[in-house]
Amino acid sequence: MKAARLYGPGDLRVEDVAPPGAPDAGWVKLRVDAAGICGSDLHNFRTGQWISRSPSTSGHELTGTVIELGEGVDTVAVGDRVVADSRFWCGECAQCHAGRRHLCASLGFVGEVCDGGFAEQAVLPARLLHIVDAALDERVAAMAEPLAVALHAVRRLPKTAGSVLVVGCGPIGGLAALLLSRSFAGTVLVADRNQARSARVARVTGATIVDLDRDAIAAAMANAPLLAAVEATGSIAAFTQLLGVLDSGGAVAMVGIFHGRLDIDPNLLVEREIALLGCHAFADELPDAVRMLGELSDPLLALIDRVIGLDEIPAAYERLLAGKSDGLKTIIRMRQPVEPA
Ligand SMILES: [Zn+2]
Ligand SMILES: [Zn+2]
Repeated sequence: MKAARLYGPGDLRVEDVAPPGAPDAGWVKLRVDAAGICGSDLHNFRTGQWISRSPSTSGHELTGTVIELGEGVDTVAVGDRVVADSRFWCGECAQCHAGRRHLCASLGFVGEVCDGGFAEQAVLPARLLHIVDAALDERVAAMAEPLAVALHAVRRLPKTAGSVLVVGCGPIGGLAALLLSRSFAGTVLVADRNQARSARVARVTGATIVDLDRDAIAAAMANAPLLAAVEATGSIAAFTQLLGVLDSGGAVAMVGIFHGRLDIDPNLLVEREIALLGCHAFADELPDAVRMLGELSDPLLALIDRVIGLDEIPAAYERLLAGKSDGLKTIIRMRQPVEPA
């Protein structure tokens, strides 16, 4: 079968490999239907930061159909359509016991600690699989995982904030704007240097586009204070600018993956009571995200940039890393769709 495997930083190869054998006890074999390319896939490709085995089939945003069960699996059945929890948690440490699996002491991710979804077949632990409605478009189902990430970031924000600024209109920023537009009472503002991307997010979510400067934001907010933001760029420059436009008492849900280090005066946070909220993957939000997929199908499809085949993944990485994407999400479809995408 075909698989896209990461060998080292900058070294991703689409190759023919032996399909996985029969799944071990507690594991399940899937025919992968679709998978999404994530910013963290690009980060790992660029830096090698999370490479723990080589080669490893990449891809943690996947949906597939169950084709074989390992011994003892009774939570899914052959023929079920599923999405995968990307978090490879242990289930035994204190954090896992407390229900904080995203903070598991030995947390790894699908595609890194085990082979992931950029392949025609995948084998995963049954405990990571969630059944989805068989009628869902596979491109939509492949977005369950990033939707859960966005949901977690949105839920980290204080409920009382009213209006929210989303900085960065990539996949997570766009999905956060979509969720905020449906759950927060106030205005949703979006900012991105790429105008085509912010325009698409504004069109799909109804958010208002702003520049990252105080005057523009004050005008958009009718001079009400800005007390909540989602940082979804991973850019030190954008984050620094964001701290400059956030009002005292504000909170930032930080979900972008950064390259580089921050140099700030901590007194800025102390004196202005700014809360920085790290957001790592998601906590219990995946089942909620799965439940939302049907209702959100149309806007989710409208946020997809391109649908490609497995062979096109290296070129897509290159294009995305070069910032040549005006859409949000690139989805890999393992087989030719019945109708053109
Ligand atoms: Zn992801
Ligand atoms: Zn654990």
